[in-house]
Amino acid sequence: MNTFQYRRGELCCEQVPVQQLAEKFGTPLYVYSRNHIVGQFTALDQALQSVEHTVCYAVKANSNLAILSALAKAGAGFDIVSAGELYRVIHAGGDPTKCVFSGVGKTREEIEYALKLGIYIFNVESEAELRQLSAVGQRLRRRAPIALRVNPHVDPDTHHHIATGKKESKFGISIERALAVYQEASRLPGIEIRGVQMHIGSQITRVTPFVQATRKLLKLMAQVRALAPATLQSFDIGGGLGICYKDQTPPTAQQFAAKVLPLVKNTGLRLLIEPGRFIVGNGGSLITRVVYIKKTPVKTFVITDAAMNDLIRPVLYDSYHEILPVRQSRSRKRKVDVVGPVCESGDFFAKDRPLPEVNAGDLLSVMSAGAYGMGMASNYNSRPRPAEVLVNGRRATCVRRRETLADLVRGEDRG
Ligand SMILES: *Cc1c(COP(=O)(O)O)cnc(C)c1O
Repeated sequence: MNTFQYRRGELCCEQVPVQQLAEKFGTPLYVYSRNHIVGQFTALDQALQSVEHTVCYAVKANSNLAILSALAKAGAGFDIVSAGELYRVIHAGGDPTKCVFSGVGKTREEIEYALKLGIYIFNVESEAELRQLSAVGQRLRRRAPIALRVNPHVDPDTHHHIATGKKESKFGISIERALAVYQEASRLPGIEIRGVQMHIGSQITRVTPFVQATRKLLKLMAQVRALAPATLQSFDIGGGLGICYKDQTPPTAQQFAAKVLPLVKNTGLRLLIEPGRFIVGNGGSLITRVVYIKKTPVKTFVITDAAMNDLIRPVLYDSYHEILPVRQSRSRKRKVDVVGPVCESGDFFAKDRPLPEVNAGDLLSVMSAGAYGMGMASNYNSRPRPAEVLVNGRRATCVRRRETLADLVRGEDRG
């Protein structure tokens, strides 16, 4: 997490003091490090260089145009889950032919939009979707390129809301049924079989589940190759590479590649990978100002101007986010709850967290908030969403302005 560091007692993002950003752009404020984000992409891209591959950044982790644009310039492809995300990618200068389209509920309109733009592949999650794709393909007089998202029934050992490769999950097609569905696909007139895909979960901190799941799919890949000898091109290992929030020691890109590449090399297929959190998670912080300190006989609450509508991960995933004072403090730590002003008991960033002395007006940085932060933000409690700033060395650019009160009612009608 060295892109956010104290320099002379001041928390900085790259070369820029966070306090300056808070004063200039206000709080709550998302601050991102361009060099961290592009650096993570490049580390993975280089670790995979001994095989043909495309790193497809999972847009849902953070869909800000400036981040998409930086990654597009670095050569990234994109993993999208909606027409809206594809629209963003195109708007940011991304290449549709490097896009993979995931998700269990792609509508006919979304399929048409993506097929017309010439995306690389649709990751198909059901037979119903497969038939819909074929019908749209026929109507547009082209073949929709597909992979099946195969569920290998591997437990990635992560939070239950983000484990997706188990038997009872809504995602993917069971490995036992996959070949039969590929056989059906090979007979459909509007379909071209291009790949095999999986995605077993998120925040996976070991390589073993990826290796186990890939091994399970090797035989299927050979069988699909026999069905579609001319067109089978790719194996997509999914996303889910974990990061360090607290004390985890996830594999580096190199360690991941060392275990996975030997398996992939033998298939001769292009490797696709769909990392989201790995690229942006530790490249972002949510900066917030303390509004009040509230003491009760049993607790001290630090009440901040950021809330669960800005960052919902703590209550949604029981997730841990480190909280650092923007001005370094050596005072004795005491346990506090850091909470927002929203009318929900789920509105907290930390409970019983040892923090140095904090006073009203102080700035705090909620770390590791680059992934699934702003993307999941809402206007709940009619709170305008935060501004976003992208730092590059000594330069800071506002890449999304703070919402205004007028933004809150835009599109509504008194009736
Ligand atoms: C969410 C998702 C990803 C990205 O997950 P991360 O844990 O952020 O890497 C990749 N692929 C699919 C299909 C997803 O649903």
